[in-house]
Amino acid sequence: MKLSARISTIKPSPTLAITMKANALRAEGRDIIGFGAGEPDFDTPQNIKEAAVRAIEEGFTKYTPVGGTDELKDAIIRKFERDNALTYRRNEICVSCGAKHSLYNLAQVLFEEGDEVIIPAPYWVSYADIVALTGARPVIVPTAEADGFKLQPDRLQDALSERTKALILNSPCNPTGAAYSRTEIEILAGIVEKTDVLVISDDIYEKILYDDAIFYSIASVNPALKAKTIVVNGVSKAYAMTGWRIGYAAGPENIIAAMNKLQSQNTSNPTSIAQKASVEALNGDQTAVGQMVAAFDKRRRVMVEGLNAIPGLSCRNPQGAFYVFPNISGILGRTIQGKRMDGSSDLAAYLLDAANVAVVPGADFGDDRYMRLSYATSMKNIEEGLKRIRTALET
Ligand code: PMP
Ligand code: GLU
Repeated sequence: MKLSARISTIKPSPTLAITMKANALRAEGRDIIGFGAGEPDFDTPQNIKEAAVRAIEEGFTKYTPVGGTDELKDAIIRKFERDNALTYRRNEICVSCGAKHSLYNLAQVLFEEGDEVIIPAPYWVSYADIVALTGARPVIVPTAEADGFKLQPDRLQDALSERTKALILNSPCNPTGAAYSRTEIEILAGIVEKTDVLVISDDIYEKILYDDAIFYSIASVNPALKAKTIVVNGVSKAYAMTGWRIGYAAGPENIIAAMNKLQSQNTSNPTSIAQKASVEALNGDQTAVGQMVAAFDKRRRVMVEGLNAIPGLSCRNPQGAFYVFPNISGILGRTIQGKRMDGSSDLAAYLLDAANVAVVPGADFGDDRYMRLSYATSMKNIEEGLKRIRTALET
């Protein structure tokens, strides 16, 4: 049977594939330490779970409006006012089945063949495929480690063409942890403002920031920027709710209406119960968020220090999210235990095989000189995983 040409233009999500592979190896009895999964290891906070249980008991188990309940949209509107000083109306919000679904819907309603979409690299694994599925061309713009992995204004300027439809910005960034300052965002905004280019601002790691980093969304710069920005966010990362599948987009009414139309023909509404839980996540007690971020911060320090102590690796201190993206150039070209390390995939395969440690090759994020490790796992796993990596690379 012949599948559509469309489906052959993309690959499966590498981050999810590695997580599945680690799980499968564990099921076979292998003692795998997983640094692959990009999801908090914490349980969803109790108040959120209780809201979901209440929703079930009260029979809130039917279809809801396609783009989310008014109650959840109002909680999202309040969140934008509180955290970002942004004002939206209900018809400027669409709730979907995870931020990935929001991004997918957005790409489907905005992009088509002939369009170009600028994606700074290293990038989250799914952007390029989500764009490619629409027929548009992902234009990958590299960033440098020396620039903190941040998109430089001249690079953005050079990448713009008559065909550019949008720029995808992700701060804090998966996989680098780079978080743009207000000034850096304003400089990029100044360039975009002079064009017809839209901005997709993926703010999913907004709450996961360290040291003195302050979150700033490009939609906040001025009303002109707000009018050309679609903010994507969700509850997965901040509230340890990856399995609940609630994400949302906020932006111009006509784009949101188109996303609603598309969603009405694919998933219909996101799960009613998860919507109730998300209202509690956004409106309820935020103590758990701070506790999780404090735990991530401790792990971040151990991870960065541990990786930098391994010969051949060097690792920047990430400012946000829960990933480290160490430079593996010192390993590349070497042969370890008969295996030549020509690229990040070779190293990731070797670490899984020889050290029982799962990491994601940097190549999947658009840079083969790196690998990604998630530190959203216990300190015990981090310490043991670092020890294993060190031993595997020293042999
Ligand atoms: N954007 C980024 C940068 C991510 O890392 C993720 C994590 N999968 C998502 C979007 C999507 O998150 P979710 O679909 O779980 O809301
Ligand atoms: N965002 C996470 C990651 O990058 C979850 C997996 C995914 O959706 O790709 O690992």
